[in-house]
Amino acid sequence: MNLIIFGPPGAGKGTQAVRLEDKYGLKQLATGDMLRAEVASGSELGQKLKDIMDSGQLVSDDIIVEIIAERISKADCENGFILDGFPRTVPQAEALDDMLKNMKRDLDHVIVLDVDQDILIDRIIQRNKETGGSRADDTPETLKKRLDVYNEQTAPVLPYFESKGLLRNIDGMASIDDVTAAIEAILDIK
Ligand code: AMP
Repeated sequence: MNLIIFGPPGAGKGTQAVRLEDKYGLKQLATGDMLRAEVASGSELGQKLKDIMDSGQLVSDDIIVEIIAERISKADCENGFILDGFPRTVPQAEALDDMLKNMKRDLDHVIVLDVDQDILIDRIIQRNKETGGSRADDTPETLKKRLDVYNEQTAPVLPYFESKGLLRNIDGMASIDDVTAAIEAILDIK
């Protein structure tokens, strides 16, 4: 089973992806985590990525598509994967489509966490406290920018998947357990 978990920053994608990973034996592929690992490596590319990420902007499609193409073909994704944070633009969605066609694999569901963007700021402040402020992009100012970027560049990906009949909308404002239960209800049908 191959999934995308989709929603604005702070919607709870990562939290849910980790739970699904355990229950269904899927591999979570979180592009934000991969990029942060590159930043932490101290490479020259990492320094460039850090500047972009800290400003709340998106990393270029070419870089991110290359990272995912390399990662998705690894053995630990054979049983299925959960894309978390990818695709974030229409060209990324199209590149994913090509990748999957070449690998003769299909997407099963695009799970969309619907949230009230006004309350995301509070959630992000909370997350920043819990992680000890480890993410430079988890500030209210950068979140505002990241939400703008989501609405302008990422939300337009939704009609693309809708046309393929893949969208499954979930109330992302419910409790973490209720969101998990709603997702599992969808996945268990198949
Ligand atoms: P995330 O942890 O998913 O919130 O991602 C943190 C940051 O990494 C984003 O604000 C972007 O700067 C960058 N990033 C993560 N995934 C992507 C992607 N698919 N395309 C472009 N930039 C990305």
